[in-house]
Amino acid sequence: MRPTSSAPRSPSRRRFLEVAATAIGATTLLPSLAAAEPLRSPDRAFRLRPGGHLNGFDPWLEIIGDAFRQNVREVARLAGGRPILAVIKNNAYGLGDQLVGPLVASCPEVAGLACTRVAEALAMREAGVRKPILNMAEVCEEEMIELARRNVAASVWLDDAPGLVDRAAKHLKRPVPVHLYLDTGMGREGMPDHRARPWVEALCTRKSARVEGTYMMFTHDLDFDREQLARFVRFTDEAAQAGLRLGTRHAAPSFEVLYLPEAHLDMVRPGNLLFGNYARREELRETPDLRPVFRLCARIVRLERLREGDSASFNRRYIAKTPTWIGLLPIGHTDGYPAQAANTCQVLIRGRLYPIVSVVSSTHTIVEIGEEKTVEVGDVATLIGPDDAAITPNAVAEKTGLGFYAMITKMNALLPKRVV
Ligand SMILES: *Cc1c(COP(=O)(O)O)cnc(C)c1O
Repeated sequence: MRPTSSAPRSPSRRRFLEVAATAIGATTLLPSLAAAEPLRSPDRAFRLRPGGHLNGFDPWLEIIGDAFRQNVREVARLAGGRPILAVIKNNAYGLGDQLVGPLVASCPEVAGLACTRVAEALAMREAGVRKPILNMAEVCEEEMIELARRNVAASVWLDDAPGLVDRAAKHLKRPVPVHLYLDTGMGREGMPDHRARPWVEALCTRKSARVEGTYMMFTHDLDFDREQLARFVRFTDEAAQAGLRLGTRHAAPSFEVLYLPEAHLDMVRPGNLLFGNYARREELRETPDLRPVFRLCARIVRLERLREGDSASFNRRYIAKTPTWIGLLPIGHTDGYPAQAANTCQVLIRGRLYPIVSVVSSTHTIVEIGEEKTVEVGDVATLIGPDDAAITPNAVAEKTGLGFYAMITKMNALLPKRVV
């Protein structure tokens, strides 16, 4: 989105709204401005918060469909073609489960989705996901009923699971779909394998339960991972030999997809890899071909020429040493852009990088443009994205010292989003 003229002029609010409205297709909200640009196709529409509206100034997130599809293909290749149970938890690691869920589920390599909250499973069904969904966290009776109604499998791993399943099935008048979650040494969730046999028997032999799968989670200590895997395989093999039907066996999240191929079993269960994140270790034989899956954008809302000695933002954290233009972006750390980006990161505007200066406050970020006014009000700034090596999610996570996972899971759930 570029202004038609680069001639210097005072940026008017009207002009800004025009630029913003046409760029984001907000034609229903600003009908008088719609004539200049054709409507965008509906699949490019923004997903707004319930009751929300797009005022043209909001920062936004773009979910990159091709990047997700590439990452899914790459994970399938790494997993020797096994099906993928794609983990889309924590609101799709911060990027929005109602957009990311259907997008990932549409990939042929993906057998189903997994999440950790009932609300996420229901939201993804609501958003049109038809493939199997597994909720990995514990649930109460009402939640198990609600999940079964939407054909979402619940994980069971507490001692009272047989009774819980009976009550839910009685209420529904049909069996409830479940995956058995075993604890082989993680010591977090799961039924400990050393005392799981009677419990598994009780579940596999009752009519109230439809056991679709059995799984475990690794500690990521590779030596102990092997021990955990041995326990899981021994337990499930013995149960199968005794005629118990355990369904699909799955264990490997991203780390073990990369570093423990023997753990791939019937199906792999990664999250991070799909979002372009992985742990780099010496053992890695080849660099996985993963792409950044999102773009965090905002528009310049104000340009101002500072005189020598003028300051910008709190505590005068930036003082112009020489006359310079600064640009204001209406995005801050409450939107999910890290506070630590000030004086460490850059943004991309019109193909050029500009440094973030002063402080990143709750809803504002300041960019140093320089002596020349090389940008315009309304220009799009990409703060995080695939378009330059300096602003990839991995680069920003590193420069801010946050780490990828901590950074992207902080994206504000209220950010307007669209798939591109
Ligand atoms: C989060 C999670 C995963 C996915 O982990 P990644 O490291 O993101 O691949 C898989 N299984 C369980 C049980 C999880 O909680």
